[in-house]
This record gives sequence, structure tokens and C-alpha cells, in this order.
Amino acid sequence: MPGFELFGKEERKEVQDVLDTGVLFRYGFDQARKGHWKAKTFEMELAERIGAGYCHLCSSGTAALTIALASCCVGAGDEVIVPPFTFIATIEAVLNAGAVPVFAEIDETLCLDPDAIEAVISPRTKAVLPVHMCGAMARIDEIKERCDQEGLILIEDACQAIGATFEGKALGTFGQMGCFSFDSVKTITCGEGGAVVTDDNILYTAADAYSDHGHDHIGNDRGLEGHVILGTNFRISELNAAVGLAQLRKLDFILEKQRRHKKAIKDALAHIPGVTFRKIPDEAGDSATFLSFFLPDESAARNTAADLAKAGVDSCFYWYDNNWHYIRSWDHLKTLQAARLPLQLYENCPDYQQVKLPRSDEIISRTISMLIKLSWTEEELAERIDKIIAAMKS
Ligand SMILES: *Cc1c(COP(=O)(O)O)cnc(C)c1O
Repeated sequence: MPGFELFGKEERKEVQDVLDTGVLFRYGFDQARKGHWKAKTFEMELAERIGAGYCHLCSSGTAALTIALASCCVGAGDEVIVPPFTFIATIEAVLNAGAVPVFAEIDETLCLDPDAIEAVISPRTKAVLPVHMCGAMARIDEIKERCDQEGLILIEDACQAIGATFEGKALGTFGQMGCFSFDSVKTITCGEGGAVVTDDNILYTAADAYSDHGHDHIGNDRGLEGHVILGTNFRISELNAAVGLAQLRKLDFILEKQRRHKKAIKDALAHIPGVTFRKIPDEAGDSATFLSFFLPDESAARNTAADLAKAGVDSCFYWYDNNWHYIRSWDHLKTLQAARLPLQLYENCPDYQQVKLPRSDEIISRTISMLIKLSWTEEELAERIDKIIAAMKS
């Protein structure tokens, strides 16, 4: 996930356009901005690139998730089905909506298992929020089918999977809304930023208003605008949007490079006994930000992770012990370390210390992921592969 690896003359030029006018804001100043609308242009180009009807750019991926939940009317007391393997932001967004995260098992795609949804559905379930982790997809067609059958809203957290597709259709465009992040470690970056996409004009209008205090953005006098709903401020600045615009235009280059680098490492690993790979429902649509593989059991995975670290192979992740991406170490969630949260007022407030996810534990405890970088030269890539093979044969 290499947005931070690229900052070239294209990014500088887009930022310079904004600096030249001094209009650092996405709304208003129509004359002074001399035709530069970086956020708006980004939205048009991203929607077009991924085949979504509408896109709204905002201040972060977490903001995007919050906007999507609010726009889909997920609120107080509603239950939202989430996976335990994600960046905690997914859970934070649900909590901050006043809703209740309900965990369901993942499968060997490392994403929410469509067959695990039914077991946790209750009369209060309102939405399903799968996360396309580490650059590739959940069994999103089956998840969508379940949601349609059960009358549940589907919101996709595609923060880590921009540019990835399932059977030719972009991740983020399967549900009512899809969310992206452009923070420092994502495939493309705005510095900080996020986006929601949708095909539904009503949801788009709600998202656009919610993220700017309810403003309807009709006309060109901000002071006279109407307010359709109560909202908040998740606006992005033109400076951040400008960086993202240059990065978005490099997405195809990034994907091509990642896919080539990933294939080289994967081909080499395929010869190591005991190594199997994450299931990817459509390999061709993988954005290839990570190579994720399984060892036969927890102790083999732990040893391999240690051997790789010892051999100096950087950017390898053993998620089971990682306190950012897997529920096992989310002590601050388990004990609800926060000011009193809305869900603590509900009788359906889960005890997160008691959540049992044996299948997810079993899968994550033998998973290792390697970050795929753009900036490797051919020599560096070859050297890396030699190091990996040497470390893993021992
Ligand atoms: C990065 C990320 C987010 C949050 O994005 P920010 O822009 O950092 O707020 C949400 N979900 C997932 C899966 C992520 O990886």
C-alpha cells in the first residue's frame, strides 16, 4: 500500500495550482479559485474510474464510514455485522454512529464469511459491513445475495482495496455505499482523506450534506444554502484533494507494478512446503498490495514470522499478535475505553470480552502478510526473494 512511496512533480503541480490561488477550501470562492476544483475533479475522476454513479471526497476513511452509516440511516441501537480482522476504524465508525458492532467469523479470504452472517442476525440487524482486507476481496457476490435476501443494507469498507475488482466490477460498488481511505499507508494517498461512492442519488445527496453540516450545496452563496439534515464536518481541504488527484491518475501504474512484484514473490513461495495462500475469489481483480499466506499452524507461523524478521525481511505482518488489525488485542474495545458510549445504554450491548471467534482465531493465527512495495528495483526484488526463501527453508 504505497501512496507514501510516490510524491513527484505531478503531486507538486496539483498542490501548486491551489497555492497559486490561495483558495485552500473545496466550497465557495468561485471567482478566486480560477477554475481549480481539486476535490470536485477527484470525485468525478474516481467515480468514472471505478464505475460508480457518485463519489464524495471527505477528510478520512473513518469519516467515509461514518458518512455512509449516517446516509444509510444506520443509527442508535441498530446492529451492524462486522469482521474481527480489520483496522479498528471500521468498528469505531459503528460505535460513533450509536450503533452496535456484532462480530461474525472470517473465512480463508481473510474477509467476512457470507456463511457466518446468518448466525448473528437478530431483529435489530440493520447493516452488514464487510472489509476487503489487504488489497483483495471478500466473497462479495455471496455477501450481497445474503443482504438482499435478508433486507439488510450493505456498506463495503474498501479502504485497503482501491482499484481491486471482482469479476470486473470495482470493490466498493456492490453495496448501497462503498468507502475508501487515502491516509498515509493506503494505495493512493491525499495525505489524509477518504471517499464514499454510491449509485444512489438520494444516498449521495445525504452524504454530501452530512459531511458539511447539512449544507445542500445549491446555488453559489454558502450563506443562503438550505440544510437538509443535521450533519457534521468531514470536509477535505483542496490541498489534500490536490495530492490525491495526482495520485489517482497513477493508480493504473501502481496496480501494474504491485501485481508484478507480488507475482514474483508468490511464485517463489509456492515451492515452499507447508505454505498455502489466502483464497482470492477473483485473482485477476486483486490490487496486490499484500501477499498473504498460511502456515500449517500457529507455531509454524510464529516461527516463520520470527525467521523473516531475523533475516531482515521488513514489512511482514503476523496479525494475530498485532494490536491494530485483529480483535484479539483490542483491549480498548473489550473494555470500552471511552466516554460513555450510546451502546452502553442498550440492553443489547454485547460483552466484547466474551466474543468467541474460533474459526477466525484459527485462520489469523497461521496467517502472515507481506507488504508489496512499488519502489523496489529489480535487484532489490530479487534480493528480497532470496532472503525470504533462505529464511523460510530453515
Ligand atoms: C485505513 C483504514 C480505515 C480508516 O481510514 P483513515 O483514513 O485512516 O481514517 C478504515 N478501514 C480500513 C480497513 C482501513 O484500512
